[in-house]
Amino acid sequence: MTEIIEEGIVNEGGLNFVEQEIKDDLAAGKNGGRLSTRFPPEPNGYLHIGHAKAFIMDFGAAEKFGGTCNLRFDDTNPQKEDMEYVNSIMRDIHWLGYDWGDRLYYASDYFPQLFDLTIRLIKEGKAYVDEQTSEQIAEQKGTPTVPGTNSPYRDRPIEENLDLFLRMNKGEFEEGSMVLRAKIDMANSNMHFRDPIMYRIIKTPHWRTGTDWKVYPMYDYAHGQSDYFEGVTHSICTLEFVPHRPLYEYFVKELADETYCPRQIEFNRLNLTYTVMSKRKLLQLVKENLVNGWDDPRMPTLCGLRRRGYTPSAIKDFINRIGYTKYEALNHIELLEHAVREDLNKTATRVSAVVNPIKLVITNYPEGKEEVFEMDNNPENLEEGKHPMPFTRELWIEREDFMENPPKKFFRLSPDKEVRLKGAYIIKCTGVKKNEAGEIEEIYAEYDPETRSGLPGSDRKVKGTLHWVSVPHAVKVEVRDYDRLFAVENPSAEEGDFRELLNPESLKIRENVMLEPWAAEHSKPEDHFQFTRLGYYTVDPDSTSDKLVFNKTIGLKDTWAKEQKKASK
Ligand code: ATP
Ligand code: MG
Repeated sequence: MTEIIEEGIVNEGGLNFVEQEIKDDLAAGKNGGRLSTRFPPEPNGYLHIGHAKAFIMDFGAAEKFGGTCNLRFDDTNPQKEDMEYVNSIMRDIHWLGYDWGDRLYYASDYFPQLFDLTIRLIKEGKAYVDEQTSEQIAEQKGTPTVPGTNSPYRDRPIEENLDLFLRMNKGEFEEGSMVLRAKIDMANSNMHFRDPIMYRIIKTPHWRTGTDWKVYPMYDYAHGQSDYFEGVTHSICTLEFVPHRPLYEYFVKELADETYCPRQIEFNRLNLTYTVMSKRKLLQLVKENLVNGWDDPRMPTLCGLRRRGYTPSAIKDFINRIGYTKYEALNHIELLEHAVREDLNKTATRVSAVVNPIKLVITNYPEGKEEVFEMDNNPENLEEGKHPMPFTRELWIEREDFMENPPKKFFRLSPDKEVRLKGAYIIKCTGVKKNEAGEIEEIYAEYDPETRSGLPGSDRKVKGTLHWVSVPHAVKVEVRDYDRLFAVENPSAEEGDFRELLNPESLKIRENVMLEPWAAEHSKPEDHFQFTRLGYYTVDPDSTSDKLVFNKTIGLKDTWAKEQKKASK
């Protein structure tokens, strides 16, 4: 499980194994040559990047082979479901560029048909009402090597089963007092065949069907039948459903014939290092305020990634790179970050911001003078044009870009050394001002007017180039820096409470970041920028007209590319 696999396997035609099976089925004329897939989220949480892997497959395969993909909410458990989740799920699928058209369905749409089928199965002696407790039922299940034992209610007369089931649904019995079970085989080597539960009693009103129903179907029964009612041909899901497949087929056989029968195909889940994918755990992080909501930029949820500044094309690129296989794997988060960096490199506007500012005074530059430099919006794509940036006698530069006693290979600013101020002049440091505690408060330098960028002969080489922001023009903004949500690589593999593995340093707020004025004027939520020399940053929706807030999406250093280079040496 902890084996790390990065590159997905595709065949010569560029198809992954699921797509190849679909292609084969279509070529064989199965289901009349029709392709219909579905994405079946339970509306009990927000979608995460693992779900994206699933729906990119569902919608993507339909697109590739001219089929259709339904969105079906698997709303069979009223105790955990909510409209909030339904809306967020639809928004996130749209965000990644997929659409279900008029094919929006709910498993609850099929409750009447499913109920009718159930009555038929009871009448055929294929289901019975069991009045044992869930503990007793569990005890009788046996183990994979020891057969289970029959329930004392297993041979109840059909009439009695029918009567009890109808009354279960009228609300005559308490939750947990009885269930409907399929009468299959308590000795089957597949544990899922040992008289699985088909319906349980739930009295919580359903958010769509209200109090119409008091019995709700279990996943294994509802899922395949819903696929059938909807005309789904390929029910693509994750590997944990492999042992459920025979049961899926068993139930579906009650409805299907040679002309149409849905089939289940499984692929490996997405697991990412330094995070968790369990909806239960993510919900816990939200409920206990261990993160700031489902869309906290540290979360692996799609809304969290969006807020952080990850783009749909980067996410799709990443999913495409890891691919679909039959082997469980743990994927490096650095590969996702690499994809984000590559995408933003192409599109993000370059601007100047100083995150840890110290004042630089250019003593030979006239007081009150102001020049405007034209800066490239994206040197990777000069068609993106330029924008103006003011230059004055007092500038903000990064505190880390100055050292009073530098080591040998420090090519930034230090006493008597020269650097270029990006897009402007070469300066030479002439001294510093310290406070009583001996801390540097200001740095002094002189500029060389002959070195103005763009002037003939201005290309005198110096080793370092620093970014800067004019002090009188700077706009103070907030920047939220993020680190890994968890301190360990694979939190799900660790013993004990997963919450104790959270990285306490995962959020750092910088209140005092100096941004160039053009960028401040052109920022609206979800806009991406590259802060020169620092990384990619995305405008947070918390921004107000008084204060802009940026999320650090990702730094510039590509740890993934570096590792790959090392590995290939
Ligand atoms: P649970 O069922 O425990 O609430 P879930 O994550 O399986 O959680 P669903 O809403 O049932 O949530 O998921 C919808 C679909 O997404 C399922 O078909 C499931 O197989 C798929 N899926 C869920 N997690 C992943 C993952 N990490 N990688 C790939 N697909 C996933
Ligand atoms: Mg599920």
